[in-house]
Amino acid sequence: MKHWKNGTRMAILYAALSVFVGCSSQQTSDASDGKGSRKVQEAATIPVSVRKKEEPLKYNGQIRKVVYLTFDDGPGPETDQVLDILKLNNIHATFFVMGPHAKQYKEFLQREVQEGNYVGMHSMTHDYKKLYIQGDFVSEMKETQQIIKQITNIEPHLLRPPYGSMPGLTQKLRDQVADAHFKVWDWTIDSLDWKYNKVPFSSSVPAIVNNVLSQANRNLEVVLLHDIHPQSIQALPIIIQKLKEKGYEFETYNEQEHFMLNFWHDNRL
Ligand SMILES: [Zn+2]
Repeated sequence: MKHWKNGTRMAILYAALSVFVGCSSQQTSDASDGKGSRKVQEAATIPVSVRKKEEPLKYNGQIRKVVYLTFDDGPGPETDQVLDILKLNNIHATFFVMGPHAKQYKEFLQREVQEGNYVGMHSMTHDYKKLYIQGDFVSEMKETQQIIKQITNIEPHLLRPPYGSMPGLTQKLRDQVADAHFKVWDWTIDSLDWKYNKVPFSSSVPAIVNNVLSQANRNLEVVLLHDIHPQSIQALPIIIQKLKEKGYEFETYNEQEHFMLNFWHDNRL
């Protein structure tokens, strides 16, 4: 994270410097008034036509804006539509699945993996009391992990806590999570897509799109969505298109390149 921020700062500085240098040479060649005057021209007075034309979204690849789309609570009957949309856009995502749903929609789980997406755990029950008060968190994640392994032959280690890690995932539970060698991802952008059940697409879709896009301002974003709500699926192609327009590249979680993203800032997870 820190490395990226530094890289970004350097790239912006370099881009800004290029603009300045470009303008100075323009000024020098234009201002051949014989008096040797080389005043620095203020940017606001430079005609737009001679300003640097390229937006510094990507400068020699030094700025990368990366977004991870993540889908919780599935697979569900409409997960294949999400997979179709991802495929159409030639991008991949990260799915945090419920154990019972994985069993019910085996073929969608297999498709998620076959098509290059990452599949992680999202518990068996999604029950706050069972997971966090009774303390079944790790045992439910282990059970979900084994279901995923049986169906896909892959044993994942990343999980997303239902309702997020804060406040439920206490120190005691985090100790258990670390001991089990699990990793935990929360998110940076909550689409709040689940809130718009029973709302017509004409208002739910723009709201979800806006929830995501208005918050997509950093060079690394992890977006929380759900692949079990029709309004999320309707909003998805627009979200992808608009994130692309903002210069984002889409990545899927990779265990070899894990970075910490939990609300507790617990660097074991
Ligand atoms: Zn959930």
